[in-house]
Amino acid sequence: MRTRLARLGAVIAAIFALIAAPAVTAAPAQAADQWSPPANLVQPLGEVWNHVESTYPDLYGFRNYGWDQIMANRGSVNYCVRWESDAPVSVALRDQVHAALKKQFGKWMAAMVESNGAGHNAWPYTSVPVNVVGWAVKNRSTLQWSDNSVDIYAGRLDGEGAPQCAPECGRFFHQDGDYSKCPGGAARHYDQSLWLTKGFQGGAGGDWGQRVGQEYFTSALGQENIHIYLHEVGHTFGLDDFYDWSPTGQCCFLMKAGSAAQITEFDKWMFRDFWRHLKSRYGL
Ligand SMILES: [Zn+2]
Repeated sequence: MRTRLARLGAVIAAIFALIAAPAVTAAPAQAADQWSPPANLVQPLGEVWNHVESTYPDLYGFRNYGWDQIMANRGSVNYCVRWESDAPVSVALRDQVHAALKKQFGKWMAAMVESNGAGHNAWPYTSVPVNVVGWAVKNRSTLQWSDNSVDIYAGRLDGEGAPQCAPECGRFFHQDGDYSKCPGGAARHYDQSLWLTKGFQGGAGGDWGQRVGQEYFTSALGQENIHIYLHEVGHTFGLDDFYDWSPTGQCCFLMKAGSAAQITEFDKWMFRDFWRHLKSRYGL
């Protein structure tokens, strides 16, 4: 499931689009260098990008893709874990969640590294550290540790009663990067939430992070690929769903939900193609 845009951002963007439609819908000029997907993927990748261009309301104006977040941080990403569950979390479970998050997020980042160790197509970061800066929970006693390795937000609920880390510290709420109201300052801000909800089926993903079932994530901690999470991270970086069509010759890949359980070669090149079309905003 894709929930991509900040609502307010979408409204502002829509207004802006009315004023200056050509400027925000025209594709920026692209350098042709360093774009060499396998020959059999050229056509389906082109189909995917045409589809994205014709269906995303603010493709080139939106500035909170995962790409933008990492660029703003100069090569890292900060996470808040939203533990929407009454299942107790031991120190060991906490550390396993952190380790799984780092490993799984790293799989997408590895897609941007060439076999010679260089960043693909001017991508500047060959490793992207994941920092878990906070946990949000309804009741403090659910978290069975007393150290201060992460900021703990207990009883701070969103409009629907789910625990969340302080909005003052969240990039979703402060896309200008102003974290002056965050108690720990910019260093303790979070770009994305890993939102684990008891009894939640399937997944959701967007610029705000990823939401999957708490039981699903904790039971998948030892898996090589936590594939629902991986799919949702794809959305964080702008990738689309494929509910009603398939690109030519591509039956099975992670972003076509239910057809693959790991990042495939086609997913990797869709990911790279998104960066290719975005990088000019960074002068790359
Ligand atoms: Zn999806």
